[in-house]
Amino acid sequence: MERHEYDVVVIGAGGAGLRAAIEARQQGKRTAIICKSLFGKAHTVMAEGGAAAAMGNVNPDDNWMVHFRDTMRGGKFLNNWRMAELHAKEAPDRVWELEAWGALFDRTKDGKISQRNFGGHEYPRLAHVGDRTGLELIRTLQQRVVALQQEDEREHGDPEAFIKVFAECTITRLLKDGDAIAGAFGYWRETGDFLVFDAPAVVLATGGIGKSYVVTSNSWEYTGDGHALALLAGAKLINMEFIQFHPTGMVWPPSVRGILVTESVRGDGGVLRNSEGRRFMFDYVPDVFKDKYATTEEEGDRWYTDQANNRRPPELLPRDEVARAINAEVKAGRGSPQGGVFLDVSSRLPAAEIIRRLPSMHHQFKELADVDITQEPMQVGPTCHYIMGGVEVDADSGAASVPGLFAAGEVSGGMHGSNRLGGNSLSDLLVFGRRAGLGAAAYVDGLSARPATADVDDAMSEAVAPLERTGGENPYEVHHELQRTMNDLVGIIRKAGEITEALQVVEKLKERSKNTGSSGSRVYNPGWHLAIDLRNMLLVSECVARAALLREESRGGHTRDDHPGMSPEWRQKLLVCSAASDASGVTVEEKVQPSMRGDLISLFERSELEKYLTGDELAEYDAAVK
Ligand code: FAD
Repeated sequence: MERHEYDVVVIGAGGAGLRAAIEARQQGKRTAIICKSLFGKAHTVMAEGGAAAAMGNVNPDDNWMVHFRDTMRGGKFLNNWRMAELHAKEAPDRVWELEAWGALFDRTKDGKISQRNFGGHEYPRLAHVGDRTGLELIRTLQQRVVALQQEDEREHGDPEAFIKVFAECTITRLLKDGDAIAGAFGYWRETGDFLVFDAPAVVLATGGIGKSYVVTSNSWEYTGDGHALALLAGAKLINMEFIQFHPTGMVWPPSVRGILVTESVRGDGGVLRNSEGRRFMFDYVPDVFKDKYATTEEEGDRWYTDQANNRRPPELLPRDEVARAINAEVKAGRGSPQGGVFLDVSSRLPAAEIIRRLPSMHHQFKELADVDITQEPMQVGPTCHYIMGGVEVDADSGAASVPGLFAAGEVSGGMHGSNRLGGNSLSDLLVFGRRAGLGAAAYVDGLSARPATADVDDAMSEAVAPLERTGGENPYEVHHELQRTMNDLVGIIRKAGEITEALQVVEKLKERSKNTGSSGSRVYNPGWHLAIDLRNMLLVSECVARAALLREESRGGHTRDDHPGMSPEWRQKLLVCSAASDASGVTVEEKVQPSMRGDLISLFERSELEKYLTGDELAEYDAAVK
């Protein structure tokens, strides 16, 4: 069997994986980058709006403290505050570093990196490249990888001596030596041949889990692999009940169902209307945000040109608020003909300006759906977009609880609390990708010996099992039933009875998945790939549902119809998922969050904290600000 030896293996070639791999290589470690699909095709490429970083280029009042506050507010104070602090402090350096590596950001009139408005950010903060920021980010990071390979060629005569990409290669198991990581096992997508990576450190950067839901902005690779790999290796997942349903996925026509309409459409002036033509978001500003958002259309419209003297329009509330409002309008019978609401930029900006500011949006919907966004409103509704939950990591190093395992980007948990602000993901990838690469390199440096070479017989038997059950059940049917169940019963609005029903269905699907078979051989066989991925989707779905059932409150990306309010007691608790290594069952335990450091908590007004914290925590605040 093909076998490779590395110091650091990075699973995932999105922004987090590439940034981690660059750092590990810069620390002198032999590094492999593995990705399930083509190199360059990751969700990061699809990110449109930009990377949030408090550079203060457009509004000099912006700084890391304002960004930190916005992030904590967006996450409804459930965030790992140390991660939110590091992120807010380091994001500007990571953006400038990208520029030094060749990224061509849009500019302000005086030549600085331009920054745009986005929901939940107090000031214009998203560094962007039109609506193709993720593409530029990936292009730049890939270019950096190539530059390092050129250096290695000059120095060692081999461009891949220290950093090598393995594309279209899916990892199905992490390998261990005792308690510690010893490598990873996977297969080549095209040939089905197996391969093994022997390595003392693995960085997970596999992105999200959207394919457990029917309506999603996520593409086929996003089957929660990294989440499941971590669980099966003995690591823990946190915050799995918090899923972001992006408020504006296209609901019509079917050719673009689920595809995202970037928040920049609203940031640049687009408005949401119901079937009666009403800008309904003014009816949905929650109390905690009342003083920050405009109360009239006139004030909201003035804000686009004069932000100092007006409050922002409520279309720019955090995503969870907008998604719930759209859901409520549709349920109340005021939706668009195909079950969404109208998002209109055509009547707000001249066509040429729309094409200038939102070129990909215009091009994509014209090409894929014959919808001209300069001429007509879009029909939009919530789509499963992003998971806030993920591998529990140490904020500073990205280390998971299993020695040698690290995680960064969407697959890690904590940074975004119960809800991520738009633009905070791209900056998260850069900040924590770098830190995970550093953490992995330092871990390798600290080892006295490499782990023993792992046995891969079990991993191989597990992977070939679906091919040996040729008469077994169709994996596509099991997958579809899982997607419908999660969409309908553990979706944007949840109830105990429905979640319990979903868990019963998941149990049955777990049994059925043991019998899923695929005909054909290992050579390019998508049915076989799906049968393997099902294990991961079922595990992750079970974590989401179990945590969602336990958390009896509504916060961020978790709305319980039967527990509508936020509870200060629940804010203090994290739900921590673990699983047996044979994927047989998930357990969820409560864990108390550490209190915020005094200098950070004193960045907030007491009146704001009263909405979130317990009496004891407020007493700690009083002591900190004294
Ligand atoms: P990804 O970029 O998702 O990459 C994951 C990598 O892991 C891929 O290379 C994949 O092939 C690989 N992988 C997965 N499983 C395996 C496996 N088993 N074996 C090997 N490889 C594997 N965020 C923002 O901040 N601003 C935005 O404007 C924005 N817009 C978005 C628009 C869309 C349509 C989408 C879907 C997301 C958007 N996001 C945005 C969110 C953001 O893009 C993602 O959260 C982020 O890019 C995730 O990056 P990542 O590096 O963690 O993983």
